[in-house]
Amino acid sequence: MPLDLTTFTLVDKPVTLQEGLRILERDQFRCRYCGLDGMANFENALVMSVDFVVPRARKGKKDPQNLVACCRPCNTIKGRRVYGSFEEAKAHVLARREELRKAWQSKTAQLLSKSAKV
Ligand SMILES: [Zn+2]
Repeated sequence: MPLDLTTFTLVDKPVTLQEGLRILERDQFRCRYCGLDGMANFENALVMSVDFVVPRARKGKKDPQNLVACCRPCNTIKGRRVYGSFEEAKAHVLARREELRKAWQSKTAQLLSKSAKV
């Protein structure tokens, strides 16, 4: 659920603004999956949101224990799967990020070497 910086409200409102801000403050505006610091700069702040560890679609509760600060990329990667624990979800997200990083690195290396030959 993205944080709307223009109104400082949480879009889609599965949790209230106050509830969301309490979670972000508790987690010091850092993504609990990848550690992205939502306070470091504006671009980071734009992607911060609050994640339901057990998704709402899977009857995850709106309970602080089930809510974590999360950047949108990690939220997308995590998807709606249900994990045994937060640690398991985190391990999955970090492993998938690493796979994506490698794919991105090899793709950009190809593109750069192509453009260098032109
Ligand atoms: Zn993240």
